[in-house]
Amino acid sequence: MSSASVRRFMASLSNCPSLKHGVSQWCPQSSSLTRTQPSSSIGFRTFRRSYVVASSAFANENREFVIVGGGNSAGYAARTFVEHGMADGRLCIVSKEAYAPYERPALTKGYLFPLDKKPARLPGFHTCVGSGGERQTPEWYKEKGIEMLYGDPVADIDIEKQTLTTNSGKLLKYGSLIVATGCTASRFPEKIGGNLPGVHYIREVADADALVSSLEKARKVAVVGGGYIGMEVAAAAVGWKLDTTIIFPENHLLQRLFTPSLAQRYEELYQENGVKFVKGVSIKNLESGADGHVAAIKLEDGSTIDADTVIIGIGAKPAVSPFGSLGLNSTVGGIQVDGQFRTSIPGIFAIGDVAAFPLKIYDRMARVEHVDHARQSAQHCIKALLSAQTHNYDYLPYFYSRVFEYEGSPRKVWWQFFGDNVGETVEVGNFDPKIATFWIESGKLKGVLLESGSPEEFELLPKLARSQPVVDKAKLQNASSVEQAFDIARSSLQG
Ligand SMILES: Cc1cc2nc3c(=O)[nH]c(=O)nc-3n(C[C@H](O)[C@H](O)[C@H](O)COP(=O)(O)OP(=O)(O)OC[C@H]3O[C@@H](n4cnc5c(N)ncnc54)[C@H](O)[C@@H]3O)c2cc1C
Repeated sequence: MSSASVRRFMASLSNCPSLKHGVSQWCPQSSSLTRTQPSSSIGFRTFRRSYVVASSAFANENREFVIVGGGNSAGYAARTFVEHGMADGRLCIVSKEAYAPYERPALTKGYLFPLDKKPARLPGFHTCVGSGGERQTPEWYKEKGIEMLYGDPVADIDIEKQTLTTNSGKLLKYGSLIVATGCTASRFPEKIGGNLPGVHYIREVADADALVSSLEKARKVAVVGGGYIGMEVAAAAVGWKLDTTIIFPENHLLQRLFTPSLAQRYEELYQENGVKFVKGVSIKNLESGADGHVAAIKLEDGSTIDADTVIIGIGAKPAVSPFGSLGLNSTVGGIQVDGQFRTSIPGIFAIGDVAAFPLKIYDRMARVEHVDHARQSAQHCIKALLSAQTHNYDYLPYFYSRVFEYEGSPRKVWWQFFGDNVGETVEVGNFDPKIATFWIESGKLKGVLLESGSPEEFELLPKLARSQPVVDKAKLQNASSVEQAFDIARSSLQG
């Protein structure tokens, strides 16, 4: 960059309204800002450096863009960097895991299929295959000039010096930093047996591998937790024809989303598949046998459930360490960001599960631990960082789960939910297998869940949840089929 163009650039900066929150507040109307221009937010020093970094080179150890965390959102962020021509020689991903980013939901789905039913394995499910994109293998990152540091988590950050230190002692200087560290599985304390051999938590490939080797030898499996992870693992374990019990303190499965009636239908389906339920109970401790391996679960009501393999699915915590100084949200947890994923520190961003962001549609702060948000937040953040995009993230919550999908399963289940599960509910359909639940608040349709709908009906879900039309609840209640209910909902969109 010539000194004249540096002067022009500095002049354009001084006309910007504010640099407080980072790059995207660079004057978007400025002709000097193009899609391919490096847009680090921390000032001239970094900008100049970005121009001296040669393509495909990290020789001076100054990394223009660093992503910490090599999971779902990192994979989609990398793709967006590539799409903007800003990856080659400029982007470094530092990952705790030994694998290139992959579609994490597979770990409790295809990954746990019985071994004779073609289980999913890497490299099959690297991002971005989950959304129909290219499979970004480790070779892809090499070809794109993206530096990957595997198996070396970031242990420390120096915000003043713009440096990171990894576990192995590497010192990395960054221009802009994207924190994409996701969550860690919540664990039972060691003193109640949470670390016994045979007790599993699932977050990473290594965890799923350990579980698969346990399942190969298991006779009695106990799954603790009736949320997404518990439901998916229990469905997988009976696929291995293992004696499987699911245990949870709530009254029904997926209490956070399902209505009691919907949960009952799924519980019956699980029971037909051989899963046993122990509901409304708390765990006292896990007990080991003479060999030190887990042997039983002791419940607070005094009863005991024998198990040689225990999977704990009791939630997850945002992985904020060592980034606590970026500003945490005390209500929903995680690193606080604005509608463009900017933290309180200029040039530092957070995306995916770890980000506490403004959920514009419902006017509240949220942290969303779902893959759709991981993908979309990554794309939104990187576009805002690299281009003139200035609009705020406007996410519509979308959750899904898939169970019993292995070959030979009598019924494969795939449901989707869009919106907010607030207000009264109307359930339509006979679960044969089609079923839908509508959430209505103050006369408006707020959320909708559908299993086994047609593609046209699935396409309607986000439209309904986004526009929140006024619906005739009585008409919906009287609908004789899911099809008719969706006709009513569709016509409310036009009303
Ligand atoms: C088993 C399982 C099943 C799931 N199923 C579904 C589903 O069916 N539907 C759905 O919508 N969502 C599902 N999810 C949630 C979804 O996978 C997450 O929302 C998504 O992975 C979040 O992406 P992320 O990039 O924020 O975090 P992650 O994908 O978790 O990636 C974070 C990465 O950062 C690494 N890391 C952490 N700390 C550091 C550090 N200090 N230095 C370097 N690296 C670090 C981690 O090891 C990890 O590799 C599932 C999650 C799990 C665990």
